[in-house]
Amino acid sequence: MLLAQAEQRSCLTESMPVDQILEIKRDVYNWSTSRNRNEAKHVIVAWHIVTEDNGATGDYSNQGIYELMEALNSNYMEHNFFFTLDTITRTANSSWFNDWNGQNSGAQEGYQALSIDPYHYMNIYTADLWSIGAEGYSYLPNQWANNSYMQSVNLDYRNVNVGLAWMLTHEVGHHLGLDHTFSGNCTYPNDGIDDTPQHNESGLWSCNSNQDTCPDDPGNDPVTNYMNYSGSCQNEYTPGQEDWQHYMTENYHPGYLENNFNYPALSVNGASFLQDSDGDGQFNPGDTTRVKVVLANEWGGDAVNVSLTLETDDPRVTILDNYISFNGSPLGDITIPAGEISSTVFDWFLITADADAVPGNIQCTVTMTAGTDEYPYQEQETINLDLTLSHFGFPLDGIVVKSSPIVADLDNDGVKEIYFGSDNEALHGYNSLVSRSMVFRSSRQTEFVQVLL
Ligand SMILES: [Zn+2]
Repeated sequence: MLLAQAEQRSCLTESMPVDQILEIKRDVYNWSTSRNRNEAKHVIVAWHIVTEDNGATGDYSNQGIYELMEALNSNYMEHNFFFTLDTITRTANSSWFNDWNGQNSGAQEGYQALSIDPYHYMNIYTADLWSIGAEGYSYLPNQWANNSYMQSVNLDYRNVNVGLAWMLTHEVGHHLGLDHTFSGNCTYPNDGIDDTPQHNESGLWSCNSNQDTCPDDPGNDPVTNYMNYSGSCQNEYTPGQEDWQHYMTENYHPGYLENNFNYPALSVNGASFLQDSDGDGQFNPGDTTRVKVVLANEWGGDAVNVSLTLETDDPRVTILDNYISFNGSPLGDITIPAGEISSTVFDWFLITADADAVPGNIQCTVTMTAGTDEYPYQEQETINLDLTLSHFGFPLDGIVVKSSPIVADLDNDGVKEIYFGSDNEALHGYNSLVSRSMVFRSSRQTEFVQVLL
């Protein structure tokens, strides 16, 4: 039983039969006790935009898709699922667009015509779903053969909006095997997952964390769970839901296990100045300074053949050396594995500021390239370099050292570094090659951060 109110359109994914839920619940339990961490899984995405015949109604920009994919990755990263957008298609077909309602509708014809390799790809479709009272729907993976064109994620085209990323996350949750947390309405086994408290459909569309619509069951309603309907406060999966999705993927989307990580996901983790003209670690007017950049490889494949270029339009500075290579250093080629950060020791940018330059932020673009001829990777990021009149002192301004320093050669370069944690939850590292601290912040506090100085 699902809501189908005009002003509160629902998700039309149907619940799994109770006997299936019980069987999977038992299997997930047996499987999860035999393993440690869930293996990282890579889902390749084909995104299909279906529009009216005029090609305009139902269409939107590719940028909207990129932003939504980034949000999806952000929501799933801690659960070790990663998504790469591979293909975008656009198809003008009014009879499909206005009848996108699963089996025996225009949608089925659309799936048959448009789907790309459903064994390896997650196919996402957008059309007019509001007309059937839905924001979206997906098929549970055990409902169809794993190479069936019916395996699909479906969203109303108006929900391609990064502010509504919880909707796509919810639909992907179904695609990876999750039921609604309110499935069963306070009746065992509900969604089959022990750490999502039961709740009742009468309590949907609420962000009230004190709400408890199944008072005989432990716990308040999981209003912040992605598999609920509450809107913008949906922001989490439980460990039980993570296990369930990995189990279902391994058993019902086995093709996803064959998808390699072909690309890294690089970002600038920090930049620092060293060996500036007056040696104070600050970039002052009149200084010439080296700029070191710390890169993070957030997820995906190893980053190989990494190089950086620096550009700016700001007339206050001149870039004397705009290229850093992570290859060919005396330490060998530097590869950045997924989940780690790294910097070069023997290569840097060199910039100089006019002596009469007005202090302030110098906006620069860093272009990061990596990969191989077969899988070339490029990403750009804007960074701000602080041109300042102040001078660097020790101890660090504004940082309270929380932990006892650790002196160790973690990067095995033969030089001991000093590491300490501070009250801003960053890990700081120094070594004798570096005259200025680099600050590394880990998004996952429990993760070990390897620092290559
Ligand atoms: Zn749903």
